[in-house]
Amino acid sequence: MTKLQFDTAEPVRITLPNGLTYEQPTGLFINNKFMKAQDGKTYPVEDPSTETTICEVSSATTEDVEYAIECADRAFHDTEWATQDPRERGRLLSKLADELESQIDLASSIEALDNGKTLALARGDVTIAINCLRDAAAYADKINGRTINTGDGYMNFTTLEPIGVCGQIIPWNFPIMMLTWKIAPALAMGNVCILKPAAVTPLNALYFASLCKKVGIPAGVVNIVPGPGRTVGAALTNDPRIRKLAFTGSTEVGKSVAVDSSESNLKKITLELGGKSAHLVFDDADIKKTLPNLVNGIFKNAGQICSSGSRIYVQEGIYDELLAAFKAYLETEIKVGNPFDKANFQGAITNRQQFDTIMNYIDIGKKEGAKILTGGEKVGDKGYFIRPTVFYDVKEDMRIVKEEIFGPVVTVAKFKTLEEGVEMANSSEFGLGSGIETESLSTGLKVAKMLKAGTVWINTYNDFDSRVPFGGVKQSGYGREMGEEVYHAYTEVKAVRIKL
Ligand code: NAP
Ligand code: MG
Repeated sequence: MTKLQFDTAEPVRITLPNGLTYEQPTGLFINNKFMKAQDGKTYPVEDPSTETTICEVSSATTEDVEYAIECADRAFHDTEWATQDPRERGRLLSKLADELESQIDLASSIEALDNGKTLALARGDVTIAINCLRDAAAYADKINGRTINTGDGYMNFTTLEPIGVCGQIIPWNFPIMMLTWKIAPALAMGNVCILKPAAVTPLNALYFASLCKKVGIPAGVVNIVPGPGRTVGAALTNDPRIRKLAFTGSTEVGKSVAVDSSESNLKKITLELGGKSAHLVFDDADIKKTLPNLVNGIFKNAGQICSSGSRIYVQEGIYDELLAAFKAYLETEIKVGNPFDKANFQGAITNRQQFDTIMNYIDIGKKEGAKILTGGEKVGDKGYFIRPTVFYDVKEDMRIVKEEIFGPVVTVAKFKTLEEGVEMANSSEFGLGSGIETESLSTGLKVAKMLKAGTVWINTYNDFDSRVPFGGVKQSGYGREMGEEVYHAYTEVKAVRIKL
């Protein structure tokens, strides 16, 4: 066991903009204790709506991560966590779901403050997080191996076994939701976790840790280590005691995570990466129904969704009418501002760096000669707010059409035939989401078959349910989260063949 000295990190009392108050843990959560980092370092967590500091949080060192891995390794190998009746893990996950549900107002408010998303959207995220925990509770003892008939003389069966210590790295766009997408199935199948939240959005992960402790998740089973990706993330991807690594973030970092994970000890990996998803609107689409879908596609979460419908393709017969309706709808219905004000649909961009990236892409679009239908500028003097921005009549080789912007910026182009629309949609190295707007069941299903993407939404968009798997093809990554599929990403198959 490492001989390190750990000091307790005290929580801070926070009053949220809607008046709720709570104790925010500020330490690294390791072995069921909130502790200061080895070097005592903390960093400020910013409210992106006001550009003010919410509180300071400990920043893990490599030694802290190693200690977390040791604790997790012990919990996996030296306790009954992995080998007990899985129904017991289900019971704990169920208690965790109940606990989070009883605090849904608070957890949603923390999310809105830390991430900048609107309270209504944050509530939707926490609801999915709760459902994820409930699904995991139900699946814990229901996902099993199978028997295989190979004829007389043999009997064959498989068992599903936990993988072991899992490293999990998540981004800042869905801090609580993505945490449960990863932790819930891992625990259900008997694994233990060390999760690194994005440095800019650690608050709900630490609050969630306090709930894990409260409901009796054993020490070492869930560990949360905020800190920078290049040190904390790399310590996870490179450690040989970690056997499974789940990553969500950019394609660029995802590739380096795959290399590190493979070179260290050939970890099992799942990668949920970037996207540049196409949203196709056919001539027969109902414009009134389509507008909110386009908006959810690209302006939900201020466009900071990996599956955002950031390339809209409209069939020529409806193109002009749709553009005019889209402009009017955005300019009258979609308000941007304070996430705690119910009138607003779109909150703040989560951090300064992303805000600058998006504003730079808007500039690139203008320089490339794309026309602006609406938006194109920031909103207000304080906070990272950007007006919903639509570029139209774009060319396929423009950077704003090819590269992931990850913000409230969309391009619109015209297509003639179904085949041409599908070809434009598929002409991307990414393949995460995709959308189809049509009143024809036949067109919808035909196009769904032709699209190269992990998810196809028809007459809806960015519409998630914890029972439906999510993940990408091509350079959007591999593996699936949610659904029954995710449980298999957290198990090893053992085959037993018996000669009778
Ligand atoms: P990112 O840089 O890929 O970061 C994702 C996570 O990986 C963060 O926790 C980050 O830590 C960590 N990380 C960074 N470098 C690492 C390394 N060398 N080894 C291990 N972990 C490392 O993504 P981002 O900065 O959050 O966003 C940048 C772009 O990623 C966006 O513009 C978007 O294109 C894409 N993105 C995709 C998704 C998605 O859901 N698929 C979500 C968010 C972002 P830090 O705390 O230091 O950031
Ligand atoms: Mg980053």
